[in-house]
Amino acid sequence: MKISKDTVVQMHYTLSDSDGHQIESTRDGDAVAYLQGHGNMIPGFEKAVDGHEAGESFSFELAPEDAYGPAREPQIARVPVKHLQGSKKWRKGMVAWVQTEHGTRQVTVEKVGKFMADVDTNHPLAGKTLKFDVEIVSVRVAMPEEISHGHAHGPGGHHHH
Ligand code: ZN
Repeated sequence: MKISKDTVVQMHYTLSDSDGHQIESTRDGDAVAYLQGHGNMIPGFEKAVDGHEAGESFSFELAPEDAYGPAREPQIARVPVKHLQGSKKWRKGMVAWVQTEHGTRQVTVEKVGKFMADVDTNHPLAGKTLKFDVEIVSVRVAMPEEISHGHAHGPGGHHHH
């Protein structure tokens, strides 16, 4: 079946910047699954894979406005170093995860002190043209529970139940 709204897509992908530097890849692990049409992926991604089927491999590029938006002025926030997740040692330019009242978000480390760090809260991929290499592993109709939760359950999806 073809990818459309309310299908669960299981896939591998490799994300690179426009210079070909790999940013992330699922290739070292299991395929990931997401629910199409619910904003789980960036809009440009969902648009690009729409209509494709299991077994297809393809590549596409997304301009910043279809991905994480244009580059913006740095938005610097000061947070305790112990709140930065993803590494034990931090230096300028590293990307960290931080819990906020709006959920977990990615920030870029600008300056690290002994206890406090300055981070840029813009998305690290803002302003970047992104290249995706995608392999569609499977496509299935979402279950009503998945649609009401707004995300995929089962292998590669959420496991919170
Ligand atoms: Zn759920």
